[in-house]
Amino acid sequence: MPDCKYFEELCSASLDGELTRAEKRELDKHLAECPACAAWLEDLKLMRTAWGDIKAPLPEELHEKIMEHIIDAMPAPTPPRKRTLPVFTIIPRLLPACCWRYLARLGIYLAGWKSASLRLLATLL
Ligand SMILES: [Zn+2]
Repeated sequence: MPDCKYFEELCSASLDGELTRAEKRELDKHLAECPACAAWLEDLKLMRTAWGDIKAPLPEELHEKIMEHIIDAMPAPTPPRKRTLPVFTIIPRLLPACCWRYLARLGIYLAGWKSASLRLLATLL
């Protein structure tokens, strides 16, 4: 059994003319048994009548003014980022890291492998 929230939505749909015959029968049956939903439907009818009375024509320039505010509030488009190939960014960073071992070995070789600590260091590199 649907609750009153369901029938409140049916009341609104009923005023909009959106109910099927089965839904209309279901709503009418519930309204006959439920004074709260019947009152809800009457309130809705009153609100729609009152709303219809206060409707005023919108100024013609309203749409344009709203669109101008929206466009002004939008951030300027950012130009697309210029992309570089990873080769040109990664290789210059990795090259010194790769070369230091060979430069260190060359230094040890040129020093003549005289020191035991240098020989140990060369084996570690
Ligand atoms: Zn109800």
